[in-house]
Amino acid sequence: MSQSTGGSTYTPEQKILNKAEIMSLSQIMSLSQETVCATVVKTARVRFNPKGWYYQGCYKCPKTTFGDKPPYKCDQNHQTETQIWKYRIDVDVEYGNCEATFTFWDRECEQLIGESAASLRDQMLEIGIDDPCDYPTTIDTIEGRTLAIKVKWQPKWSNGSVQGVHEGKSFIEGLKAQFTPTQDPKLLEQASSPLPEDVTSSQAVESNSDTDYVIQTVSLSDDTDQFDPSLLAMNTPSKRSGADIKDENVEAGELIGSKMSSTKMPKQAKME
Ligand SMILES: [Zn+2]
Repeated sequence: MSQSTGGSTYTPEQKILNKAEIMSLSQIMSLSQETVCATVVKTARVRFNPKGWYYQGCYKCPKTTFGDKPPYKCDQNHQTETQIWKYRIDVDVEYGNCEATFTFWDRECEQLIGESAASLRDQMLEIGIDDPCDYPTTIDTIEGRTLAIKVKWQPKWSNGSVQGVHEGKSFIEGLKAQFTPTQDPKLLEQASSPLPEDVTSSQAVESNSDTDYVIQTVSLSDDTDQFDPSLLAMNTPSKRSGADIKDENVEAGELIGSKMSSTKMPKQAKME
């Protein structure tokens, strides 16, 4: 690897991955401390926030300003002379069977909606709506999108604060391929064979060779450390007992028979 890659310009992909731990939403939701993660979710629906979809921001920090006329002040006592309108939109996101609420801030909302909060607010004012709790339908365009997301998960509030979004399909697939195998019984079986020390990361990278962003080997080695062999026993489907089979109201003999031949001869063989 060349040493010159550590320059100051990051690609959008590197910005998502930088200092982030790659993990699935279910893993994120089980974290016990604030952690910056890179993950993939689908935006399910915009969640109503009683404070509205935009706020008047401080020019110096991300906080809300107060006051009816300039200078507007935030709680850090920064003084802002002009009105700065910023998005803050809560969105229910999902992945697998998990659902959580992520807060999308100004930059990412503008990126996804394709319009600034100020401009959208102006359009609302033109039709006589000045209530930030009146959500314009334009905001719904955030819904139903699969996104790579950099998010700071805050267990205290069970909320994720979004720090970056990316819609590239191959990047998204590359991220998903790096979620730890504890999520998927099929991958678990592969992982159960004893591994030489350095094999895990190179294999993971190999599986999405069409992506050229920097893979964070730190996260990958963490994953290996956290791998819990006891999960294997819990998830491996081949350990079913005869009693279980009877419970499902299937003749045990038939099921075992079909199982033995299932690798090559499905039942449809007769129908040809
Ligand atoms: Zn401020």
